[in-house]
Amino acid sequence: MRLELWSILFAALVILSAVFWLISRARMKQTGLPDGRVRYSDTGAWRKVEKPYFDGEWGLVGKPDYVIESKGTLIPVEVKSTSAESPYESHVMQLAAYCRLLQVTSGHRPVRGLIKYRNRVFEIEYTAELERKLKSLVNEVRSLDPTSDVPRSHHSASRCRSCGYAENCDQRLDQVG
Ligand code: SF4
Repeated sequence: MRLELWSILFAALVILSAVFWLISRARMKQTGLPDGRVRYSDTGAWRKVEKPYFDGEWGLVGKPDYVIESKGTLIPVEVKSTSAESPYESHVMQLAAYCRLLQVTSGHRPVRGLIKYRNRVFEIEYTAELERKLKSLVNEVRSLDPTSDVPRSHHSASRCRSCGYAENCDQRLDQVG
């Protein structure tokens, strides 16, 4: 009788574990993030804040919101508070910079990164072409005269609203008019 009771308890525990596993898988799917372990966060969910990554050769510094380790590869994740029907180019380049920073600091080249908007997640491949684009953008920025005024190059208010420099930018469109 006692053995039967233990068997029932054991079976219940196994079922409970399976249920919790299924719930955590479902939550992972809801967030749009792939299976994997979140290694690092600066969103405030973790109190310990890591130092930003640094690439002395290209002069890049920064840290993505998350880095996920999945099947031996690192995936940077950038979380945006806005919705988007397609990824903004500036966000893609930001993610590319995180891929480069991860490559330099870990010695392993990420094959992709994720941009998570409020309504969907975009997977961006870190291709050689994207790396070349990043490099030429870095060179372009380096060649700019920091004392000169750079005029706004677009007329998109939504782009300004999702821009990380908006607070300090006197050209942001939602302030015009
Ligand atoms: S806020 Fe300023 S820097 Fe940002 S996208 Fe708008 S114009 Fe460009």
